[in-house]
Formats: sequence, structure tokens, C-alpha cells
Amino acid sequence: MTHTIEQTRKRAEADAKTFGYFLVNDAELLQGLMEGLKINEDRYGYPSCPCRLASGEFSFDRDIICPCDYRDPDVAEYGTCYCRLYVNKDIYEGKKELPSVPERRPIAKQARAFQAASTPKPAQKKENEPPAAEEREELVELIPKLWYCKQCGYVVFREDPPYVCPICKAKKEMFTEIKTKVKFFS
Ligand code: SF4
Repeated sequence: MTHTIEQTRKRAEADAKTFGYFLVNDAELLQGLMEGLKINEDRYGYPSCPCRLASGEFSFDRDIICPCDYRDPDVAEYGTCYCRLYVNKDIYEGKKELPSVPERRPIAKQARAFQAASTPKPAQKKENEPPAAEEREELVELIPKLWYCKQCGYVVFREDPPYVCPICKAKKEMFTEIKTKVKFFS
């Protein structure tokens, strides 16, 4: 079942209310995050964080399904979650500025998601066998692209640039792709 953006928003609002949080008081940022959540839900079947790379495997992405495992400690420490979707009362009312939040997700989980997202499914791959030359081009296309925010320098692996930069709120047009080289060992 696919959700509309309005349903995605209502769900987030209900969740915010339950925990005494608010949704960010910035219509443009909020809309971008809602769109990102909806697209991820349509793509993976669950609303993974719009600011992070998802692997597409539920067991690997469980901690970043919105609201992610890191929201509560981030709101407690910074007043907002990593994406700046959920905020506390002071930030919602403009008494405090919306800060940038450092990534709390362990690097090992980020690396695992990247590896899973860039590795062909087992059925497509023969164990311990390097990809045939004709398969390499296809494999390179499976590896998420590396995106760079020209406004603040934030870097992230994703298929597409983030809808909104989680650090400086720049729109996705401010992201540029960093070309990476992939080496296959045989
Ligand atoms: S950082 Fe915020 S928007 Fe992203 S998954 Fe966590 S709670 Fe949701």
C-alpha cells in the first residue's frame, strides 16, 4: 500500500505528539523531508531516513526507519533529530536556532548499508568469483553515487542527492556528484 505525502505527514505529526516533539517549523524543509520519506517508503516498503543511505534490506535498515533509533538521543542533546524533522518546543517556537546534528549512527552500520546497497544479490553472484568483464559495467551502476553539498561540504553515498541537505538545508540542486573509481580484483 502506498501512502500519500499527507498521510506520511499525519503519521509524523502523530508520532511527534506522542513523544512531546514538534515537526520542524519550516514549510520547505518539512515538505522536502516528507517527499523523501514517501519516496523511500515506495521504494523499499518502509520509510527509511531521507538523509541517510538505506541498503534496501530491512534487517540492515531497521535502525534508520523513521523515527530512527537515534532521534530521541539527538533531540535530547541537540533539540532536533539528524534530519531536523523532529524538534523540541524551543526550536519549534524559534527561541533557539535549528542546529546541525552530527551523525550518531555507528560507522560500521553505515559501511554495512553501503556494502549491501552496492553488492549484487546472492542469486546473481557466484561465490568467490570476480565479476565477468561484461558484468562490471552493470555492477558499477549498482554502487550508489557519492554526492557533495557545495554549500557546506556534507558528503553522502546515495542513488540520488538528498532532497534537503541535513546539515545546511541546501536544496538538492546544490549537490554535485563526486566521480569515484571502482577496482575489481581478480
Ligand atoms: S533523523 Fe529524523 S527524519 Fe531521519 S529517520 Fe531519524 S527521526 Fe526520521
